[in-house]
Amino acid sequence: MLRVHSIETFGTHEGPGIRLVVFLQGCNFRCLYCHNPDTQSATGGREMSSDEIIELLQKQRPYFKDKGGLTVSGGEPLLQRQALIDLFTKTKKTGFNVALDTNGSIFDEDTKKLLTVTDLVLLDVKHIDPVWHLKVTNASNEPVLQFAKYLEEINKPMWLRYVLVPGLTNQKEFLEKWGQHFAAYKNIKRVEILPFHTFGFYKYKELGIKNPLEGVLPPTKEEIQGAFGIFKKYFKEVYIR
Ligand code: SF4
Repeated sequence: MLRVHSIETFGTHEGPGIRLVVFLQGCNFRCLYCHNPDTQSATGGREMSSDEIIELLQKQRPYFKDKGGLTVSGGEPLLQRQALIDLFTKTKKTGFNVALDTNGSIFDEDTKKLLTVTDLVLLDVKHIDPVWHLKVTNASNEPVLQFAKYLEEINKPMWLRYVLVPGLTNQKEFLEKWGQHFAAYKNIKRVEILPFHTFGFYKYKELGIKNPLEGVLPPTKEEIQGAFGIFKKYFKEVYIR
C-alpha cells in the first residue's frame, strides 16, 4: 500500500506528455522553500493499492498518446520505495511509461531495484555546496550526488532540476559548480530551472507553522536569465519552468 497525499490527473510538468501524477505523503527533507509543506509529515494522506492507481491510469490511457504515463512525486517517493517497486513493475507490465520525481536522498539496494522498473528520473539537486545544501534542506547532498552518479553509470534518462531562490540558491559560483559537476553526464535529457514562487505560502498559514521564507520575493527576470545563461554553458537543453 502507498500513502498518497493527492493525485493530479492531467499533469503537464512532471515528465513528458500528459501524466497522472501521484503525490506521496512524507518527506525526509525540510527545504526552506518547500511549496508543499503539507506533504512533509509521514502521517495523513490515504492508503492506495497499486491496482487502484493502475485503474486510474487505464481510465486516462486515451489522453497519454505515445508520451504520457505515470509520475510519482511527493513528498519524497523513495521513502516508500518497497511499495513503489510493486506499483512500477505492474504499471510497466500494463504498458505505461513511468517517471520518478525525487530528491534522490535514499540510495540503497531497494532504490536500485526500483530504478530497473523506472523509465525516467526527475532529480532535484537542490544545492551543489554541502554546507548550503544542509542549510537549505536540513540534509546532506552526499547521497543525492551518489544517486545521480549511479543514474549516469546505468545510463538512466534523467531530467535534472534546480529551484532558484534569491539568497539561497542563486550564488553564481555555485551555479557554475553545479553545471560543471554534471556537464559530462550523458544521461541528462534536459535541465529545468524552477524559479521560486510564493503560491504555496498560504499552506504554511493553514498548517499554523512558521514560513521560513516569509517576505522573500521570487527571482527577477534578470536573475532567472543569469542562471539560464550559466547552465546553458554546460547543457544543450535548458528550460525555465
Ligand atoms: S524535498 Fe520537496 S517535498 Fe520535501 S521538503 Fe523539499 S521541496 Fe518539500
